[in-house]
Amino acid sequence: MLVDKMKRLEEVCWRNTRQLPFDEGIRNCVLSMDDVLDASARLERFAPYFCLAFPETSDNCGIIESPLREIASMKSALSRDGETEICGRLLIKLDSHLPISGSIKARGGIYEVLKTAEDIALQSGMLKITDDYGILMSEKFRKLFSEYSIAVGSTGNLGLSIGMMSAKLGFKVTVHMSSDAKQWKKDMLRSKGVTVVEYESDYSEAVKQGRKMAENDPKCHFVDDENSKTLFMGYSVAALRVKKQLLEMGIKVDKEHPLNVYLPCGVGGGPGGVAFGLKQVYGDDVNCFFAEPTHSPCMILGMSTGKHSDISVQDIGIDNKTAADGLAVGRASGFVGKAMEPFMSGCYTLSDERMYKMLSMLADSEGIYLEPSALAGMYGPVLVEKDAELKCFGGNSNTTHIVWATGGSMVPKEEMEKYYSIGKNLAIK
Ligand SMILES: *Cc1c(COP(=O)(O)O)cnc(C)c1O
Repeated sequence: MLVDKMKRLEEVCWRNTRQLPFDEGIRNCVLSMDDVLDASARLERFAPYFCLAFPETSDNCGIIESPLREIASMKSALSRDGETEICGRLLIKLDSHLPISGSIKARGGIYEVLKTAEDIALQSGMLKITDDYGILMSEKFRKLFSEYSIAVGSTGNLGLSIGMMSAKLGFKVTVHMSSDAKQWKKDMLRSKGVTVVEYESDYSEAVKQGRKMAENDPKCHFVDDENSKTLFMGYSVAALRVKKQLLEMGIKVDKEHPLNVYLPCGVGGGPGGVAFGLKQVYGDDVNCFFAEPTHSPCMILGMSTGKHSDISVQDIGIDNKTAADGLAVGRASGFVGKAMEPFMSGCYTLSDERMYKMLSMLADSEGIYLEPSALAGMYGPVLVEKDAELKCFGGNSNTTHIVWATGGSMVPKEEMEKYYSIGKNLAIK
C-alpha cells in the first residue's frame, strides 16, 4: 500500500515499527559512543590547522560548527499554512551556513579527508598525534599529500566539500559529478584545481564509475558515500555540539521534554550519522525522522520494505528527478538503513513544490535562505501534528523540534532568486 502510494508520487509518512528501545538497539550495533568521541577528538586535533588554513573558522577556534536558532515566526507561518498548531518550540540547525562548503557535507566530507591526511602523515613519521597540526600547512606536508589522490562521486555538495578540503591540503582530487550537479559547483571546484568528471547519469552511476577508477590506484583514497563509516562518524559529531548548544539555550531534553529532529535524506550517511550521534546522546528522549522528495524516496523504500540497498526507486518506476539535488539518490546506503533500523522513529516524503513554498516562507518570515533540499525537514513538525501515522510524536507543548537545514549559503544570488520566486508563485496559487 505504502509502495503503491510512492509509485504514484504521493506524499507519504511511515512510522518505523522495527524501532527498539535505545538500550536494546545499541546492543547489536557495531558502532558506539566511543566512535563519536574518537571523531570529535580528531576534529579537535585539526582545529589549529583550520585556524590557519581557513581564517573564517578562527572565531570558533578552528571548529567548524553552525548556529542553532529558534524560528518562532516560521513556526507561526507553518502552522497557518498547514492549518494546524505546532506544539512546542521550533528550532533550525543552520548547517546551510557551515564554513568552507556551506552544507552538511562540511561535517562528514571534510572529516574523511582529514582522517585520510592524518593516517598518511602519521604513517610517514612526519607527524605525531601530539603535534600542533598547524604544521600541516607547511610545504613538506603539501608535497607528501601531493603524492596521493582522493576521489568521490557526488550530486554536488559532497564533491564540493571533498574537493575544497583535499585541494587545500595538497592532494590531487577528482570529483565524479552526477547529472544533477549544478554548474556553479563544478566551476568553483575547477577554479581550485579540482578535476571534475561529468556524467549524464544519476548519482549511483557517478559513484560506481568513481569507485572503479580509484580501484586501480593504490595511492588513491575513494570516499565511498554509499558505504563509508568514516563519513558517518564525521557527521555524528554534530550531536555533541547540539547538546552543548541546547544547554546554552537553556532547553531541556528528557522524558518529559522530548526532542524531535527532522533530517533531509539522500543516500543516508549525513542524516544517519547525525541521528546516530543524537541517539547516543539522548537515547529514547530524541525522535529522529528522515525526509525525502517524492521523486527520490530511496531510504523510506529501503527501510519500509526491509530491502534496504537491494531496492532502488527506479525498480518501482520512479524517475529520481527532483529539484532537491542534494537528495537525488535512487538507492540508499548499504549500511545506513540497516544500522539505523532500530533507532529511527520514521520517514516521510514531500513534493518539490512544498519544498519551494517553504523556501520562500522561511525567507519571508526569518530572512534565512536555503537550497530546496534543505527544506525537506521543515514539513516534519506539521506532519507530527496532522498525520495519523506520526501523530504520536506531536501534540506536546514541551517538545523541541529541530529542523536540520542542510545547505544553501553558497548558492549564487541569481540562483537563489529563482528558487525564491518559484516558491512565491506556488504560495499564491
Ligand atoms: C547530501 C545532502 C543531504 C543528505 O545527505 P546524505 O548523506 O546524502 O543522505 C541533505 N541535504 C543537502 C543539501 C545535501 O547536500
